[in-house]
Amino acid sequence: MRLKLFLITLLLFGTASAKEKMMLYDFRFWTSPERTRIVIDTEKDIQYRVTNHANKIDLTIQNAKLLRTTYDKVFYQDMRIKHTKLKRKLQAMHLLFTIRKGYRVKSYMLKPNSKYTYHRLVIDIYDEDKKPIKKPIKKIAQKIILIDAGHGGEDPGATGYFQTKEKHITLAIAKKLANKLNKTRGFKARLSRKGDYYVGLTKRIRIAQANHASLFISIHADSVKHTSAKGASVYTLSELGGLTKFAKRLERSQNTTDQFGGKEEMTKGDKYLNKILWDFSRKDRDIQSKKLGRLILQQMQKIGPLHKKRPQKAGFVVLKTPAIPSVLLETAFISNPQEEKRLNNKKEQDKIATAIYHAILNYYK
Ligand SMILES: [Zn+2]
Repeated sequence: MRLKLFLITLLLFGTASAKEKMMLYDFRFWTSPERTRIVIDTEKDIQYRVTNHANKIDLTIQNAKLLRTTYDKVFYQDMRIKHTKLKRKLQAMHLLFTIRKGYRVKSYMLKPNSKYTYHRLVIDIYDEDKKPIKKPIKKIAQKIILIDAGHGGEDPGATGYFQTKEKHITLAIAKKLANKLNKTRGFKARLSRKGDYYVGLTKRIRIAQANHASLFISIHADSVKHTSAKGASVYTLSELGGLTKFAKRLERSQNTTDQFGGKEEMTKGDKYLNKILWDFSRKDRDIQSKKLGRLILQQMQKIGPLHKKRPQKAGFVVLKTPAIPSVLLETAFISNPQEEKRLNNKKEQDKIATAIYHAILNYYK
């Protein structure tokens, strides 16, 4: 039995050298309603294995070492992780996670990209699938507005001169807007994320559909190399994708964010989704999106500069919400130090939320 285990270990860790220890540079944990994501910054070619039994997940990394500052980050607790033990056996480091409830676990490696210097080992702990409860379809008297705070978790979005992260700004504005709508009769706000965790782009669309949203508003902050660019812009979906070069650049940067947050989980369900995206009447939706976009710009103009006076066309994934008028608002340039200060200011965030709020009310007038 011992020998067998030893052989298996050899097979799995066969290439690891006994001398060079692989550095684990950082641990990050992101808790979302559907999963806990563990991200470990590593050197290339780490040999790892994830096994699980009962309420324990065992992450074994061969020949690894931790920085002292990283060590403290390992012992994260949340609604899923009860506690974590760190054990060293022979050449292997074991991280034993004790999980509070039924779960599924997935793991994979991600390569470095323009935003991430290190290789990343990602471990996702999902809640065990519950049997879906069939709810009777209620007639909806309220307008459901899906507010999408851009980025989140492993995907920080753009970073400002003073290191402000876009993901925090978008969430702050989204929450303020949601509060205003929820206090208004006839409206109900839904958020695609409520905290600092990553939500895949197609998942955001699915949330809008599942909630029978009437509008989809994605909130972002713009960024370019030149620090002088300023003002708000609004994007709506174009059938042909981005028309201007500028829109194309943005489209690329937004759609690739999934590489930062992990993997866009394209399952069979997504194929179906992609198909139905194009089965709905797009023309009417596009007209409505443009109308909403114009109304938002009209309000944004009252509180700050506009970068583009008219809604721009772009083919962002988040905007491909069938039959739901959808806009993406770049509130201001986080790359402009002055606008970054504005975006960080709670009163200014409230002004932006109020501007969008009035645009929504005007849309339904
Ligand atoms: Zn963004």
